[in-house]
Amino acid sequence: LLIDDEPFTLRLLTHQLKGLGHEDVTGCEDAREALARVEGAPGTIDLILLDLQMPGSDGIEFIRHLARLHFSGGVILISGEDERILQTAHRLAEAHQLRVLGAVHMPVPPERLRTLLAAGGTGSAGAHRVAKRYTFDELREAVAGNQFINWYQPKVSLRTGAVVGVETLVRWQHPVDGLVFPDAFIALAEDGGMVDALTRPTLQRALAQARAWRDRGMALHVGVNVSMDDLADLDFPDFVAGAVAAAGVPVESLLLEVTESRLMKNALASLDILTRLRLKHIDLSIDAFGTGHSSLAQLRDIPFDELKIARGFIHGASHNPSNRAIVEASLGMAHHLGMQTVAEGVEDLEDWELLRTLGRDFAQGYFIARPMPGEAIPDWMRGWETRRPELVPL
Ligand code: C2E
Ligand code: CA
Repeated sequence: LLIDDEPFTLRLLTHQLKGLGHEDVTGCEDAREALARVEGAPGTIDLILLDLQMPGSDGIEFIRHLARLHFSGGVILISGEDERILQTAHRLAEAHQLRVLGAVHMPVPPERLRTLLAAGGTGSAGAHRVAKRYTFDELREAVAGNQFINWYQPKVSLRTGAVVGVETLVRWQHPVDGLVFPDAFIALAEDGGMVDALTRPTLQRALAQARAWRDRGMALHVGVNVSMDDLADLDFPDFVAGAVAAAGVPVESLLLEVTESRLMKNALASLDILTRLRLKHIDLSIDAFGTGHSSLAQLRDIPFDELKIARGFIHGASHNPSNRAIVEASLGMAHHLGMQTVAEGVEDLEDWELLRTLGRDFAQGYFIARPMPGEAIPDWMRGWETRRPELVPL
């Protein structure tokens, strides 16, 4: 479905889409009429190309309506406005949980349109993870029944390409729904004060996996995500130290990634706990730096070892001057503070090359590897070795 008040643009895009093999294209000059179509035939529209400026109803308003209708197809935003407005609209649409394939300027080069469509898949089911809503009781049962497993995502050195470690990402192995991702349950666990019951076994599984890798000659660091709520319990550092000892791995092989997804309930207790973890030589990472509440004040007050720059700033930074400035400044700041850095969300070769130019520490992201079960890591490492000479020329 194309929505644009300019008949010429509609004709042009229709022609382009047909050229790419998309025969079933409908153009609408009027946003209200387009909305009626979406409402009238739920699940039948795979893709919407939406002009942000239209008389009567602007694109932003349309995005809100799509979100209200839980539109699950792809969305491409088009506009003649400047890049930052387009990017803001993109973020807004994503924040509304829409599956945004991209935001582009008119006229859209056919090549760009082709890549956008290829990346998004065109079926409305697509590769989109529709986060089902679970109740707290369902989650509690799952925790009691140990229905959680760990996946791991590699982290590599930008300088040498060496695999330095992995980040642990929890998955819910749901008996009916299959693999459920954390966006469907972490916040729920946090709200219900149950995140600790999730984190602790996840940490134990990660340490056991680290032990198993070590036994095969792979000394990988494991990062484990902890919520601020985990840091409200004064016995947490002892629990962690105990778990490390029980697994029989060196304490240096564990890193805790701390995100402050909500305001600290008790700032003093978290500071106490974080400092004690450091005294026990457990490394701390400030996760998703630059988003939410991970702030400069925390960088100053808490002895973090590592700073992970949020993926929203990394991917595409080579052609987004604002993001690039933020990435460079964050890297410089971390360096001055004596912290190591990880760039999250390295999704393509351009991201990888930019970060190599900026020349700091570590990278993680789909370009390097998607998260995978622990058993898949050794095979992935062998494959990575074959890519490595090309990506890290001597
Ligand atoms: P995070 O710590 O920022 O983790 C990285 C997320 O980004 C993961 O999503 C990962 O699959 C995804 N990702 C990695 N590379 C790329 C990339 O190149 N592009 C894009 N677009 N995404 C990428 P996942 O596994 O769905 O986890 C989401 C969040 O859930 C995590 O964000 C973390 O905050 C939280 N989480 C995961 N496991 C745990 C856990 O065991 N305990 C707690 N408390 N939180 C967890
Ligand atoms: Ca993390």
